[in-house]
Amino acid sequence: MRAVRTTCAYCGVGCGITARVGDGREVEIGGDTAHPANRGGLCSKGTHLGETVGLGGRLLYPMIGDAQADWDEALRLVAAQFRQAIAEHGPDSVAFYVSGQLLTEDYYAANKLMKGFIGSGNIDTNSRLCMASAVAAHNRAFGEDFVPCSYDDLDKADLIVLVGSNTAWCHPVIWQRIEAAREAKGTKLVVIDPRRTETAERADLHIAIKPDGDVALFNAMLLDMHRRGMTDDAFMARHVTTPDRFWDDLSAGETVLPDGFDEFCDLFAAHPRTVTLFSQGANQSACGTDKGNAITNLHLSTGRIGVPGGGPFSITGQPNAMGGREVGGLANQLACHLGFSEQERAAVGTFWNTDTVAQGPGLKAVDLFNAVHDGRIKALWIMATNPAVSLPDAGFVREALQRCPFVVVSDCITDTDTALMADVRLPALAWGEKDGTVTNSERMISRQRALFPAPGEARADWRIIADVAARMGWAEDFAWPNPAAVFREYAAMTAISAERGLKLDLTDRAIMTDVSYEAMEPFRWGAHQPLLEAGFSHPDGKARLISIAPPAPRAFDPAFPLRLNTNRYRDQWHTMTRTGLSPKLSRHRPEPLLDIHPEDAAGAGVNAGGLVRVSTAQGETVLRARITEAQAKGTISAPMHWTDAFGSAGRSNRLTQRRTDPVSGQPAFKDTPAKIAVVLPD
Ligand code: SF4
Repeated sequence: MRAVRTTCAYCGVGCGITARVGDGREVEIGGDTAHPANRGGLCSKGTHLGETVGLGGRLLYPMIGDAQADWDEALRLVAAQFRQAIAEHGPDSVAFYVSGQLLTEDYYAANKLMKGFIGSGNIDTNSRLCMASAVAAHNRAFGEDFVPCSYDDLDKADLIVLVGSNTAWCHPVIWQRIEAAREAKGTKLVVIDPRRTETAERADLHIAIKPDGDVALFNAMLLDMHRRGMTDDAFMARHVTTPDRFWDDLSAGETVLPDGFDEFCDLFAAHPRTVTLFSQGANQSACGTDKGNAITNLHLSTGRIGVPGGGPFSITGQPNAMGGREVGGLANQLACHLGFSEQERAAVGTFWNTDTVAQGPGLKAVDLFNAVHDGRIKALWIMATNPAVSLPDAGFVREALQRCPFVVVSDCITDTDTALMADVRLPALAWGEKDGTVTNSERMISRQRALFPAPGEARADWRIIADVAARMGWAEDFAWPNPAAVFREYAAMTAISAERGLKLDLTDRAIMTDVSYEAMEPFRWGAHQPLLEAGFSHPDGKARLISIAPPAPRAFDPAFPLRLNTNRYRDQWHTMTRTGLSPKLSRHRPEPLLDIHPEDAAGAGVNAGGLVRVSTAQGETVLRARITEAQAKGTISAPMHWTDAFGSAGRSNRLTQRRTDPVSGQPAFKDTPAKIAVVLPD
């Protein structure tokens, strides 16, 4: 068997894998002991990747409708439909919806085609669903989407605070690292989460805040630190710009502070080395950006940032959410952390040798599908994602796809809920076949390497994009021979960011040869100089405190008296298109369960194991009840993984609302008004 070093297909921890590849598609998966992110550790999902690499269910040939087509015919059709929509309705009548599953090279190609040549900002990504609020918070506080921590800080911290993160299940190798630090040096752990998750169960302190109670909590913490004289005036004078009246206006609102607040303040005050790690529970909110800034305000005001073991640390959900952010795959970025100012557009236009650079930001995910639904988008290309299941109000999204005049899906799976609604399906390579790079939560760029040859007629995503671009008339601009050439072009482009004082700078990697690209070891960008010496990315080199008020309480709706939260299971990933293939992974939680507090269950006559209809303004589904005090009274929770492919039950995103954060556009998945009714008592 030959050994290949690659990176896990799943979460943003970005674990290195050593794959031992045998005949055919036989593979043994082990942790890469030399990879700094995981040092050989893997979780159950990574360990069982070998069970998911079979060719069952794979899309192996281009399909037009239900008929197999040849590549040239399918590519010409896609190019013609996009060209026609642009000619008749303008560049903003087309859109790409892409994915954190794409490699950086794929993302770069898609972003270049849409923002550089089609001339629209309408490319957004499913990473909008997991961490766009953290991106917005970084931009406001630091002047750039820069994560000021690394995993090493978890080893060095004396206190780790987890906000809205069931780390033990959703980022298990980070959890292994936290547990190791606790055992080795007694690191304290505080978990802030409305649910008593498996992570919260094992914390030194669990603070069960109300939904969206984060801003009030962190503002109250900051007030407490200020009153105690624990804010660091000297640090702030050197590194932070404070708005006028910041301290006068700082308020925790009317909220009753949760149990454990005083203990949390004491712990924070006693531990200068504190990392606050936040994830979907914070980001997937109508005030997610404010939550990120409330956390960051606390760190900036107390000097707990830019020091070993200190800082606010947003962790990403997907394997390459960060790589997509770097190349500009969010609709509100142009490219490489650049915006849409005249100078930035001119620099990008010169670099790409094009005069059709997008004039301004495009539509963010939820708005993009609203535009598909109301007919503004005439041609849509979805890459490596399943929005008919994963976007909020998924029934609305399905309607939008049915109404759209032309839908292309490029994916490795033949029959995702989304692919089944496409006019054209283009077969893409899967994990284990692709070659390229991904960036994890701590900005570490690693190689994904091919283990097997391309099956059928599947092609790399960057290649498919380049093939369409060529048929739209831009062959020379997309004439890369391999992913190494795409990466070199992207790395060279970061010189524009570096010239503008941004930290995203890969120019020292731009000279890499194909051979050195193949041999690339993991490296972290923006790590050349300590953060506080280099300064933040605002023009004055200082970070910003952001004045934030807690959100007004949502009006109680007697028709929907409960709040629905969505969650993730330890051994499933997204919409189960891959993990659903592993029998071992499916044993952990074979079906979706609705978590209900005992008093809410009793009030509705629900018994443990009974079937419950959950209804919201968007739709309804049926789930089996799990009655547990881990679920706060007045709230219910269901996993997001199950899809229409598994039948009518358990489709939780049929229920969730299209409400979004006004700054980041990230959907508020965690707080949908809902009601329950018994279907079968037990
Ligand atoms: Fe893969 Fe994430 Fe598990 Fe690491 S923690 S093995 S990256 S799923």
